[in-house]
Amino acid sequence: MESLLLILAVLAAVCAVAWGGYQHARARDLAQRLQQERTQNATLTARLEQLQTEAGAQRATLIQNMGEGVLLLDPDGRVELFNRTFEQLFEVRDDLRGRSVLEALRLHELDEVVRRTRETGQVLGAELELRGPEPRFLQVNAAGYGTGAGRGVILVFHDLTRVRQLEALRREFVANVSHELRTPLSLIKGYVETLLEGAHTDPELSRRFLQTIARHTDRLTYLIEDLLTLSHLESGAAALSPAPVKLRALAGRTLEDLSTPAAERGTTLVNAVPEDLEAHADADRVLQVFFNLVDNALKYGRPQGRVEVGGREADRERVELWVRDDGPGLPREALGRVFERFYRVDRNRSREQGGTGLGLAIVKHIVQSHGGEVRVESEPGRGATFYFTLPRH
Ligand code: ADP
Repeated sequence: MESLLLILAVLAAVCAVAWGGYQHARARDLAQRLQQERTQNATLTARLEQLQTEAGAQRATLIQNMGEGVLLLDPDGRVELFNRTFEQLFEVRDDLRGRSVLEALRLHELDEVVRRTRETGQVLGAELELRGPEPRFLQVNAAGYGTGAGRGVILVFHDLTRVRQLEALRREFVANVSHELRTPLSLIKGYVETLLEGAHTDPELSRRFLQTIARHTDRLTYLIEDLLTLSHLESGAAALSPAPVKLRALAGRTLEDLSTPAAERGTTLVNAVPEDLEAHADADRVLQVFFNLVDNALKYGRPQGRVEVGGREADRERVELWVRDDGPGLPREALGRVFERFYRVDRNRSREQGGTGLGLAIVKHIVQSHGGEVRVESEPGRGATFYFTLPRH
């Protein structure tokens, strides 16, 4: 009996020790797991923080590099942040942070947009004109962010200057074209009416009137042809077909085509383009450049004068060609403007010569579409030389 009790006691002791050991192991296990979880949590928190910082940094980089100007105002309406484009648009030199829109930019219209956005919480848009030596046009869109008293305003600025300039150019072009068309048309109409009213009974007068009508009809035709050429060139539909072209031969063809008007004016035409000079260009277009320049040299050069077409290798990449006359030349203020559409030094002279005011604009367009450049050199009374470059390869 005693031994049985002893065995039981020993067993109980063993169980107790085993239970204790088990409990201890479990506690250690738990502690380890807890520690593991803590470490995992810490890593997770660190990763989350890292992600948040990365997202913040990405957002900041995105805002910094946006093509639009961005300005962020805090809930007090003070500048909190702006990006590089904003700095460029408004030519910002100082740190604007902490200032109100009015203090920072002195634009009442913009201040009004900010005020209304803060009041209504709506997205608002407006157009601003920044006055100055070179006016700029901006589209601004404003939106509130955050809620209640913590609501700030984000403003996004889009530069419309180029679009507005192009619109103005188009309006000016349409006005010019209308004017150019109206002048010959009203002259034609006038002569036709006079003929209808009885002038046709005088054969000599009728002939003179009809000649004038024919001249103005030609002018209209040239104008429409030039307009079509220009619009064809600008639309990009006129794809260039560049190939090696022998420039002396092209100059020769031009001089031949214009030999009749040259003979009428007693002008000597000289082809001084070197025999082996070549360009990689669209032959038909280059022919048109030569034609317009030589035609001008004849029209505006002096009677009994001399017109020379020349050329040389400018460098490894380009050839330079020129058309030179010994006429009255161009006044200094015209040198920078002759390639503009409808620019003429002497409007009446150009009209008398059947000029459209588009010849040099076409020249410039063709040369530039080949990657070349145009320029003119002239001293009043000492002739004019028109230069252009073309690629050699
Ligand atoms: P237009 O049809 O009037 O000739 P262009 O565009 O060909 O138009 O030329 C613009 C203006 O440049 C001319 O009206 C003329 O005043 C001036 N011009 C062009 N070529 C010469 C030149 N060789 N000498 C003097 N003036 C020229």
